[in-house]
Amino acid sequence: MHDDRAGLDVPACDRRYLAFDIGGTKIASGVVSLPPADSLATPLVEDVTEIPTLADRGGDDVRERLVEFAARRLEQCVEAGVDIAGVGIGSAGVVDSGTGVILSATDLMPGWAGQHIAAAVGEATGLPVHMVGDVGAHGLGEATYGAGREYPTMLSVGVGTGIGGAYVDHGRLITGAHGVAGHVGHMPHGLGAGMRCSCGTTCGHIEPVASGTGIADLFESRRPDDVPPATNAAEISRRAAAGEAYATEILSMSARALGECLAGMGSLIDPAVIVLSGSVVNAGEVWWKALREGFADGALPRVRTTPLLRGQLGGNAPLIGAAVGFVTAQ
Ligand SMILES: [Zn+2]
Repeated sequence: MHDDRAGLDVPACDRRYLAFDIGGTKIASGVVSLPPADSLATPLVEDVTEIPTLADRGGDDVRERLVEFAARRLEQCVEAGVDIAGVGIGSAGVVDSGTGVILSATDLMPGWAGQHIAAAVGEATGLPVHMVGDVGAHGLGEATYGAGREYPTMLSVGVGTGIGGAYVDHGRLITGAHGVAGHVGHMPHGLGAGMRCSCGTTCGHIEPVASGTGIADLFESRRPDDVPPATNAAEISRRAAAGEAYATEILSMSARALGECLAGMGSLIDPAVIVLSGSVVNAGEVWWKALREGFADGALPRVRTTPLLRGQLGGNAPLIGAAVGFVTAQ
């Protein structure tokens, strides 16, 4: 079932790309070399540096400093004799890859919506630029060079402070009619009823009970008086691993609910593999076991065998994926 992977026509290693990952707190940049996707080689990510986003200064300010950062990075590459073929950007917010414009962004990045990022960076560097969403970039990286590389289709799920996702079909990011496809965190689940989601609803989304902060909120919302409070999901997973009954119950409940949501998505789009990344995937065996049980119970019989794997590229995934996004767009 894995041999019909289209295989990206990625040029040989000597082509290098300047990649950017724009998040709410920092903008990271690296020089990425992509081996052919059908080889087993791992991309090289070199010379990674970052600047603070300083999002509260507003979108115009962030764009201007990004442009300065990009120009400086290119200058450094030229001085080092590194030939850059193009610029790949993964950005927070909902992105229009066709126009290189940010379509919408959360309150964490005021004024980011409407920014013409690709055009501004292109003008400053004189290079072709392609932009995708940051979660999409992560998915493209894992699908092409990480845990999904042997599979033709992949659902990527990031479980950290929030929950994001991306669907990649034969190396192509599927963004949907409005650029929002893959927003796993806003799948409905009854466990989330009454808990406020980052999107504003309280009708019951999975993110406010299954993200890192969601696990901690769920823990607090039901905590009996004789159980000490927990500050974050990492502490809850440590307490669960140590055998604490209430921590185990909450972590299992949360992971099971996420597994049930993934089962629904699995039955809808039937990906060849589901790859999970982000801090919460380190929550331990209690979390993984409950996730797999929820998935198995909720998935249609033929979907039940879909592998649920841990991402392999770690923090480099978005930069690698931004470069992949550039290459596939050419
Ligand atoms: Zn939501």
